[in-house]
Amino acid sequence: MPRFSRPKGTQDILPEDQPYWAHLRAVVTQIAQSYGFERIDIPMFESTELFARGVGEGTDIVDKEMYSFKDKGDRDITLRPEFTAGVMRAYIENGLHVQPKPIRLYSIGPIFRYEEPQAGRYRQFNQFNAEIIGVDGALADLETMLLAWDIYAELKFQNLAFQLNSTGCPVCRPTYLAALQAYYKEYEDTICEDCRRRIVHNPLRVLDCKQHQCQPVIAAAPKITDYLCEGCAQHFAELRSYLDTLGKPYSLNHRLVRGLDYYTKTVFEVWAEGIGAQSAVCGGGRYDGLVELLDGPSTPAVGFAAGMERVVMVMKAQGITVPELPQPPVYLAYLGDASRQHAVRLLAELRAAGVGTQIAMQGSLRSQLRQADKRQAKVTVIIGEDELARGEVTLRDMASGEQTTVAAAGVVALLRDRLA
Ligand code: AMP
Repeated sequence: MPRFSRPKGTQDILPEDQPYWAHLRAVVTQIAQSYGFERIDIPMFESTELFARGVGEGTDIVDKEMYSFKDKGDRDITLRPEFTAGVMRAYIENGLHVQPKPIRLYSIGPIFRYEEPQAGRYRQFNQFNAEIIGVDGALADLETMLLAWDIYAELKFQNLAFQLNSTGCPVCRPTYLAALQAYYKEYEDTICEDCRRRIVHNPLRVLDCKQHQCQPVIAAAPKITDYLCEGCAQHFAELRSYLDTLGKPYSLNHRLVRGLDYYTKTVFEVWAEGIGAQSAVCGGGRYDGLVELLDGPSTPAVGFAAGMERVVMVMKAQGITVPELPQPPVYLAYLGDASRQHAVRLLAELRAAGVGTQIAMQGSLRSQLRQADKRQAKVTVIIGEDELARGEVTLRDMASGEQTTVAAAGVVALLRDRLA
């Protein structure tokens, strides 16, 4: 056992896995930008109060999962357990709300949650996240959903489908919650202990309980879509009409919820064929009450977040091939001290000419060539003492093994042109 090991729930992403991550980040960036989303980077830690309000007391995240501490200035600080609260804080603080709407933002980076680690669940993980702020029409919901969808389509995920629900709004939700609570009262002896608590404090959350004994109760529970007010019903119908127009498959899933008052109307997930059965690869929805809750002006908003570790797991499980990361095409090998000095000069000249180059640092010529092969060099420049004395170097084409001798003086221009 080494003396130090990484903290529980964290991981090292080694070079061999980086092509997946680079490809994922590139696809997210490219699609988000081409759909008009602009990148925003926010701090990895914020005041604890921001998340207590913006994610909500009574959620698992705030009650159990936050990395919170006092800093040396006695401030209550929390490592961000999600993006949205921080993005909305930045939106208000930087006066983005005076700009023409909508504001479309995306973010990529690490997130921290104190959860019990298991496959695909970590204490530090990465999300990509997007929001459209300032528009209440269902077209904004559609745009965030399409962004998520098209990212997965570009990654070549198979069997994509939306799961869709509405959670109503402060006008219609209370009637639904009363109906749900009345229904659950009948099953108090059947449901799990958590649900007995949830039905009082956070009633919508009974719907996504995973306990076996609660499943039949959930299946027959009243559906919120039967209780939507006219505004919410219209919004939902409009969104569905867009999805129908585009022929995007979706399932209505009355169990899909967010347990907090400032979440309104749309909730959605994208499901993809994962490791075996279909599983969620992102989750999102509308939160028209959030900006106001954070002391900003009343502002509608909709967004989603996706866990990148899980996306990478699905990429691997579906056998998706990703581009290799570029390696420097030129490798410098040499024999003897004088040659090494020449190689160092040549290294600087090639790099100055824009030719990606690595230099052997040790070993026999044979082992240097093995290294060149391993580093996937296209051409190895072999500098030997005798050749150098004649003003020549040898170029070895690493694919064919063919070697040619060329004038040392012209090698930079030659390689630059050949590799251009
Ligand atoms: P949420 O912010 O809870 O809606 O989660 C958004 C996405 O983040 C989920 O769909 C997961 O893919 C991912 N996610 C959530 N928690 C974790 C975790 N502990 N480890 C890895 N990914 C996670």
